Amino acid sequence: MHTSTEAIRRLARPRRRFGPLRAAAERLVLAARRHPPDRRPRILCYHSVGTPAWRMNDVSPPRFRRQIEGALRSGYSFVPASRIAGGAGLPGELAITFDDGLASVATHAAPFLAAMRIPWSLFVVSGWLDGNAPFPREIFLDWTSVDRLAAQGVEIGSHSVSHENFSRIEPARIAAELADSRRRIEARLGVAPRSFAIPNGRRRDWPAGAADAARAAGYDTVYAACEDRRPAGTVGRTMITAWDGDRLFGAALEGAYDGWEEWIP
Ligand SMILES: [Zn+2]
Repeated sequence: MHTSTEAIRRLARPRRRFGPLRAAAERLVLAARRHPPDRRPRILCYHSVGTPAWRMNDVSPPRFRRQIEGALRSGYSFVPASRIAGGAGLPGELAITFDDGLASVATHAAPFLAAMRIPWSLFVVSGWLDGNAPFPREIFLDWTSVDRLAAQGVEIGSHSVSHENFSRIEPARIAAELADSRRRIEARLGVAPRSFAIPNGRRRDWPAGAADAARAAGYDTVYAACEDRRPAGTVGRTMITAWDGDRLFGAALEGAYDGWEEWIP
């Protein structure tokens, strides 16, 4: 038992080290590959805007602003994620979502998006906001800040209680992660979230039965992290990563990463 655990750890170590490099290489290759520009409505999945600890999922504040301004210059417009999720999105429409509830989103993205009158959604991990996170507390928003964002019109959704990988926990635990996070958000903000973003968001992270549990918990929309590989019944998104300069970001908006999933050890 001990030996096999050690073996798995040895295997996981290089995966953790090379995962971001592999992701960067894959995104470069996919951007270079010929893809007919596909301007179908897309929901962008961001994480942090100036939290270096979030590594490949962190976009710097100047780059974030540049991406949004560039998209507007290229004729894209921004609408609420719920509009695209509900099937009413038009070609060239984009929506902005942030996963994980990071403080840098309020500091560096919120004022800019408010000034630009761009709607956005935030998926929070309720336990992390409560201080139960394997990261420094100050990385995350607190409930007061989330409440302030909600008052400004930001849609607050759930991203579970503890960000466990749903493929590795029992169905009862999945049901609790869905229901307890929703109840906790309602208790703190006075509004029960209607939407849920799957932790890690890949197809394999949403096991059979999770959709029923989400519905039973009261969610009407579940967001995945990939457009073409999203689990049945979920809404696809387009991940934006730390590597996405002008060219890769443009490729993302044109669908180059519709089949791309993050490589998580
Ligand atoms: Zn997440």
